[in-house]
Amino acid sequence: MKASIANWGNYPWIDAEIVAPGNEDAIIDVLNKNQKLIPRGLGRCYGDSALQTHIISTSKLNHFLAFDEQHGILHCQAGVSFDEILKIFVPKGWFLPVTPGTKFVTCGGALASDVHGKNHHKEGTFSDHVLFFHLILPNGQKMRCSREENQDLFHLTCGGMGLTGIITDVCFKLKKIETAFIRQENIKAANLDEVIRLFEESANWTYSMAWIDCLSKGKSFGRSIMMRGENAMLNELSQKQRKLPLKVHSDGKLNVPFYFPSFVLNSFSVKAFNFLYYHKQTTKEIKNIIHYDSFFYPLDAIHHWNRIYGKKGFTQYQFVIPREKGREGLIELIGHIGKKNMGSFLTVLKLFGKQKENYIRFPMEGWTLAMDFKIQPSLWKFLDEMDEIVLKYGGRVYLTKDVRMKPHFLLHTYPQASSFIDRIRTINPHIISSLQSERLEII
Ligand SMILES: Cc1cc2nc3c(=O)[nH]c(=O)nc-3n(C[C@H](O)[C@H](O)[C@H](O)COP(=O)(O)OP(=O)(O)OC[C@H]3O[C@@H](n4cnc5c(N)ncnc54)[C@H](O)[C@@H]3O)c2cc1C
Repeated sequence: MKASIANWGNYPWIDAEIVAPGNEDAIIDVLNKNQKLIPRGLGRCYGDSALQTHIISTSKLNHFLAFDEQHGILHCQAGVSFDEILKIFVPKGWFLPVTPGTKFVTCGGALASDVHGKNHHKEGTFSDHVLFFHLILPNGQKMRCSREENQDLFHLTCGGMGLTGIITDVCFKLKKIETAFIRQENIKAANLDEVIRLFEESANWTYSMAWIDCLSKGKSFGRSIMMRGENAMLNELSQKQRKLPLKVHSDGKLNVPFYFPSFVLNSFSVKAFNFLYYHKQTTKEIKNIIHYDSFFYPLDAIHHWNRIYGKKGFTQYQFVIPREKGREGLIELIGHIGKKNMGSFLTVLKLFGKQKENYIRFPMEGWTLAMDFKIQPSLWKFLDEMDEIVLKYGGRVYLTKDVRMKPHFLLHTYPQASSFIDRIRTINPHIISSLQSERLEII
């Protein structure tokens, strides 16, 4: 099928030939055609990582293969989504070990980006819970990869942005839960120092993140709302919640039916939104028990929310800087956003825990900030300036959100990038590549 296609940021759009093979032989047939191609899940990466003139969609690799009820070990095909997993396994008392801020991602996509959630400091990334997966290499060979078998391919593929081959199925461990609810505390922080202190005090909480207002200045510079949570136990639920303690999320009914005109989002509307969001919570602290869907996936409630950025689309810029230089770096980076009036609605701050360096996996121990910016001419220079500051503090930028990073920035900020590139070029003779891998001169 020929189609015009973009990922979540609606930028860039390209014309591509999309095929959706339903089994391994069909995947090998596609690879044998020797056309440049990239695997694609649900296209929730923001930029150009899952774009190429030929795309292998995993939409037909959507079967559950096995489940070990005693240990919570799930084996499923790579196109199965987190949404589908939750619908089946929450009622059985199991949850995802790590989840990003949307449930509309596939297992293959989650592994290829090695996604993190609000629990990185305690429970690592998605691949930390993966026991094994199967991969079809660009030459058509099928490999089983784990920490014991084909270890190097295992590590190259976790966070390898689809460049090692097609992941056909993934086996990973789910997390036991007593209820589908989260005991949540929302705490207002008057400024950056207070939110940093709150993160440090919350080290024992399983889940934590903060929404931060990037445009506030003076004494309220960095004002935030920190959200922390724990899986709730049965005895913590209200009478009503106890009637269905393992309740599954429902499909969102709201929808943004068309692209907003691009003038709707400007620095005034962003400032107004941030002001209202901060003041919506009238008390210093709120404690409540909420459903996992509201805690982990508030944005999923509105389908196509990405259209509010207009037809030209948007990008998400997510960086991480080492913990020891965190305060200084955050002051400079958030200060730069304010100085250039480039506010973002949904700026999210998290503190990553310890992380072993591994090829081009994104996390490192430190502060990570994710911001959405609509595409406009002044954006590219501004993001290059942000890169310079990130580089100065020894940080890096997340590839699954990227659409404009430069090759030298990748090489300078990911210490193992050049060995990743060497290894990829050995196993992948220019068959699998994305617009991103070409731009970054990986392959
Ligand atoms: C609202 C929102 C919130 C998000 N929050 C977070 C977050 O908190 N943390 C986080 O880490 N990420 C987050 N993300 C990013 C998202 O989790 C990743 O981009 C994820 O990889 C998307 O999965 P997907 O199935 O849509 O993959 P795609 O977007 O289709 O592809 C992503 C990458 O995976 C590769 N890939 C996909 N399937 C396969 C396969 N079967 N074999 C080999 N390679 C494959 C693609 O080639 C591409 O490089 C968020 C995204 C959105 C839209």
